[in-house]
Amino acid sequence: GSSGNSAAILKSKMLGTKRPKFKSPINKSNGAENGDEPGRNGQAKGTMSKAEEPQDERLRNIDPKMIEAINNEIMESLTVVSWDDIAGLEHAKKTIKETITWPMLRPDIFTGLRRPPKGLLLFGPPGTGKTMIGKCIASQSKATFFSISSSSLTSKWVGDGEKMVRALFAVARCHQPAVIFMDEIDSLLTQRSDGEIEASRRIKTEFLVQFDGVGVGGEEDRILIVGATNRPQEIDEAARRRFQKRLYIPLPESQGRHGLMKRLLEKQPHDLTADQILDICDRTAGYSGSDMTGLCREAALGPVRAIQGDILEIGLDALRPISHGDFVEALSQVRASVSDRDLDLYKEWDMEYGSMA
Ligand code: ADP
Repeated sequence: GSSGNSAAILKSKMLGTKRPKFKSPINKSNGAENGDEPGRNGQAKGTMSKAEEPQDERLRNIDPKMIEAINNEIMESLTVVSWDDIAGLEHAKKTIKETITWPMLRPDIFTGLRRPPKGLLLFGPPGTGKTMIGKCIASQSKATFFSISSSSLTSKWVGDGEKMVRALFAVARCHQPAVIFMDEIDSLLTQRSDGEIEASRRIKTEFLVQFDGVGVGGEEDRILIVGATNRPQEIDEAARRRFQKRLYIPLPESQGRHGLMKRLLEKQPHDLTADQILDICDRTAGYSGSDMTGLCREAALGPVRAIQGDILEIGLDALRPISHGDFVEALSQVRASVSDRDLDLYKEWDMEYGSMA
């Protein structure tokens, strides 16, 4: 395979539904909850032309079209995500550092009993940073990041889902250390029922086979499978067992919301005092990280809405800073998206199946 950690892969391809950066709120009013595919934009041109290991033994029986699709759509460039970018979640971050990233960086120390888990399951409400954590693990452990949503295996790769799974693991093997991040993993690993579609069943079986195959080749195999789900209850037992580490990613506490708000506001002119920021944090109990992002985006539109006259003619300096009032206004527009009932379900599942450390 190619040497090093494929830093040459200078693509910025986003699959799935996530918007990683706080973009200009003028483009979009409702932030991260907007579920639409961000599209094929943002892809850097032509940097990946180096034919990707066509001669690698491990890729011999894999459909070249799939390899190409994986290189183009599923393997992501390392947008560097640091632990500090992720607000709150101190417990999860500490656990992941000790049990996942250190072993990936120092496989020579973490052998035998200290061997890291092959699978990490991140569960909890939507928009709490699970995807960010996946990226952070990859970026902090200098691993190649592969990201795919389970639904794209069935919808986009109709009929070929299981081949795609096989291809994905094969390509990941050529780019170790590697993190394979699977969003909505519940839909892939759901309990088998009679009505289960044959194709989905085959994808699931292949996934479990590949999962079990990781590490069989010896301690050198450095592939981590990270599954993310908002519906852990739906994952069946056989699949659950394979994720040795299962971490609850809860809604942010007040402190987490505070960190998040400060980070988001850093990039924009505003005149909120420290107390006013705390006030907003008090009033956002139950908001997820992505709700908070949505709130800040909405508030940031306040100054734009206050413009008198033609937006085309206004100078940037005529825009007033974002104010506490903008936030108060935004609070009535952007509400917490997770229900108390759902939270109880997560807590119960965590008590029963979650990892303590
Ligand atoms: P999940 O995968 O849990 O559904 P994401 O990681 O995709 O959620 O988060 C969605 C967006 O919400 C992120 O892009 C980020 O802007 C924001 N966000 C959510 N949780 C956090 C967090 N803990 N720290 C910083 N930003 C967060």
